[in-house]
Amino acid sequence: MATRQVRIIGDEILRKASKPVKEVTPRIKDLIADMFETMYESNGVGLAAPQVGILKQIVVLDVDDGNQYVLINPQIMETDGSQTGYEGCLSVPGKSGIVTRPSWVKVRAYDEEMQPFELEGEELLARAICHECDHLHGGLYVDLVEGELVDTDSLEEDEDEE
Ligand code: ZN
Repeated sequence: MATRQVRIIGDEILRKASKPVKEVTPRIKDLIADMFETMYESNGVGLAAPQVGILKQIVVLDVDDGNQYVLINPQIMETDGSQTGYEGCLSVPGKSGIVTRPSWVKVRAYDEEMQPFELEGEELLARAICHECDHLHGGLYVDLVEGELVDTDSLEEDEDEE
């Protein structure tokens, strides 16, 4: 495993659409392991493959609920409710902004064995799923921010970055 360089806002790869994964090759397994390592090193709760320069529909998540999720070719099927709060992104270092997201989502995806599964998430997990799925379509949370971006350091508590 190795950490990979996180692409920063302004890098055009972050604005491109990622392609679906057809097969989980050893190379893709290595990528997933590296994505977890890169995410943990940066204290993130989620990371999408385009953030490390790979335009494939792969997301890793760990919102500290005891699970590590790998979502391959994720599709958000249903959403409910709303939550408004600060959000950050490893590709927008040092900044946070207020974003409204659903408070509950159901996502359909494939696991590392290319077996389909569904995952339901609420609160931070719902926010992280939406944020990471946006990355797969060239979206960044800054497109959705209400008001100005602020310095994350100026917030009272450490915010999670995705
Ligand atoms: Zn992000």
